[in-house]
Amino acid sequence: MAEIIEPFRIKVVEPIRMTTRVQREEMLREAGYNMFKLRSDDVLIDLLTDSGTSAMSAEQWGALMRGDEGYAGSRSFFRFRDVVHELTGFEHVIPTHQGRAAERILFETVCSPGDVVPNNTHFDTTRANVEATGATAIDLPAPHGLVPGEPHPFKGDMDVAALEATIDEHGVDRIPLVMVTVTNNTGGGQPVSMANLREVSAVCRRAGIPLYLDACRFAENAWFIKTREEGWGDTPVKEIARAMFALADGCTMSAKKDGLANIGGFLASQDAELTRQEENLLILTEGFPTYGGLAGRDLEAIAVGLEEVLDEDYLAYRVASVRYLGEHLAKQGVPIMRPPGGHAIYLDAAAFLDHIPRSRLPGQALTAELYLAGGIRGCEIGTVMFGHTDPETGEEVPSRMELVRLAIPRRVYTESQIKYVIDVILEVWEQRRSLAGYRIAEQAPVLRHFTARFEPLAATSSAPS
Ligand SMILES: *Cc1c(COP(=O)(O)O)cnc(C)c1O
Repeated sequence: MAEIIEPFRIKVVEPIRMTTRVQREEMLREAGYNMFKLRSDDVLIDLLTDSGTSAMSAEQWGALMRGDEGYAGSRSFFRFRDVVHELTGFEHVIPTHQGRAAERILFETVCSPGDVVPNNTHFDTTRANVEATGATAIDLPAPHGLVPGEPHPFKGDMDVAALEATIDEHGVDRIPLVMVTVTNNTGGGQPVSMANLREVSAVCRRAGIPLYLDACRFAENAWFIKTREEGWGDTPVKEIARAMFALADGCTMSAKKDGLANIGGFLASQDAELTRQEENLLILTEGFPTYGGLAGRDLEAIAVGLEEVLDEDYLAYRVASVRYLGEHLAKQGVPIMRPPGGHAIYLDAAAFLDHIPRSRLPGQALTAELYLAGGIRGCEIGTVMFGHTDPETGEEVPSRMELVRLAIPRRVYTESQIKYVIDVILEVWEQRRSLAGYRIAEQAPVLRHFTARFEPLAATSSAPS
């Protein structure tokens, strides 16, 4: 088969400012070694996130001009609602300014202190919004998802036995809903199989607990089902997506991912009474229910994006370009999560920098060096994001895995730019023994990774100089 190429041509370009290592050393120091504090102009290849960073299509830019900015009853809302309804089957659709607003409104409405919310793996804002209500967020990833080097086709699955045990332990009354994140972001951008979704759905329906999808990457997940799961190869990806939503009772969505938009989200369900309560909260902080904190033109861009994202040529290219990065690294022995996920490659920083103890933040060390060596901005998904400092001992309590995520913005970078990323990572890999750890100098009580300041530690005596 011919090589998979970018299924688009470029109409508008945005220059990248070239920088030297010396300049980057200065800029990173000023940013407290925190990638979130860098200016994006000081980054060459920005792989911090795939969120809100998509390139919009000519159709989407055209749709912006059609935006109806009427405060109430906007035509753009109905267009948006119809697309979401047709895709998900959900009756009630509430636009929000992004995914976490949908999460806040949902959890504030359904959760009480002492409740428990199971998820295959909570995204960071999802966990924070569950916990802000006094409920507990529980991650129940399937065991086959937890071994970074193990190539399983559906490492995003939920552990169904653990879900049943959780329901037995806490009781149906303490579990307002179960959530499945597709694809499973923090567990490695890994897909959830239709078989697993069906099992989870059956457990929830038996128990009478609503099942919600955190649907941010529903199209990439559907593509993996089509290409990896027995029996789905001939089904159009849109049908697969609809079959996924049909197993759930509602969803939260960040349109900044598979909405191919730069802002936006929604909350949708079949529950009219719940929606009424949610709309009251929406009005309090987001806006009237026919715009929910978005401009009418944003609703138009999302409506177009939700259809474009199901284009199979686009999805084939999308997944191939992420795999291209992963396979070239793996071939050279660089430890990554395998197989490659839908939107990102995860470097296994604990294995990459196995001479740096977890308490010295190897994920942070690798993230910093990728920037210094090549101006590449990745994101630590390890102890900085999910660990915490023990208040008694001052020691870092590490997270389960120590990953560095290189998230690929949709339709943004070319193959030669990805080749550059590969070259830089291989260079860092060659020199990995010279890297040392970091310590946290300053941190906030929640979501500390966004604002923490770090300090580089001196290399330990065992490292060659
Ligand atoms: C991005 C994301 C969210 C939150 O969405 P925002 O638009 O960033 O607020 C929730 N869940 C997952 C899986 C995500 O990737």
